[in-house]
Amino acid sequence: MDDCSTRARACAIIGILHVIGQKHTFQESSTNTMNAIAPELQSLDLSQYMREALIEADLAGQAGEFPIGAVIVIDGAIIARGRATHQQSRSQVRHAELNAILAGDERLWTDYKRAILFTTVEPCPMCLGAAVMADIPHIIFALPDAVVHSAHTVETNPYVRRHIKSYFGGMLREESVALWTKYDPKNLAYILTGHQ
Ligand SMILES: [Zn+2]
Repeated sequence: MDDCSTRARACAIIGILHVIGQKHTFQESSTNTMNAIAPELQSLDLSQYMREALIEADLAGQAGEFPIGAVIVIDGAIIARGRATHQQSRSQVRHAELNAILAGDERLWTDYKRAILFTTVEPCPMCLGAAVMADIPHIIFALPDAVVHSAHTVETNPYVRRHIKSYFGGMLREESVALWTKYDPKNLAYILTGHQ
């Protein structure tokens, strides 16, 4: 990809961040800038992986779960998938991201430094913590979650921030919203506003 189209993609990403009202900084020279995508990821077609996470979210919704899905990508390949399974597992902690991380197995254990976690909703404190403890440096999500304040955690907790190179929200946000509208509109309002 040439510089021009890389820049165009960066500008498009920043445009999304403007739309969702988050502050952002984008510096190609920085590898530890929040609300941004690290330079080493910018040659990838990131949205194709988010579409795979959205497929997982749709399957979760069909099963009567929260419509949240996640995939983990290493070197361009999806090495693990997860979706919310609270009801099926009879567990409050069976979140999509945690399920994907637990499914990462040997590949995630070995190649965690290049791992990207894609999730259809901004990770909660538990899943952000699990990603940090799994040493996954890149987190990309579709729908920002006004309830969890995980971006604030990334920004302000030095331990968390040190582990995270990419923390980016808004990729295919509307597709995630559409799934919540279809399966769980009441909780969509909670996610969007932070108020029940
Ligand atoms: Zn979670």
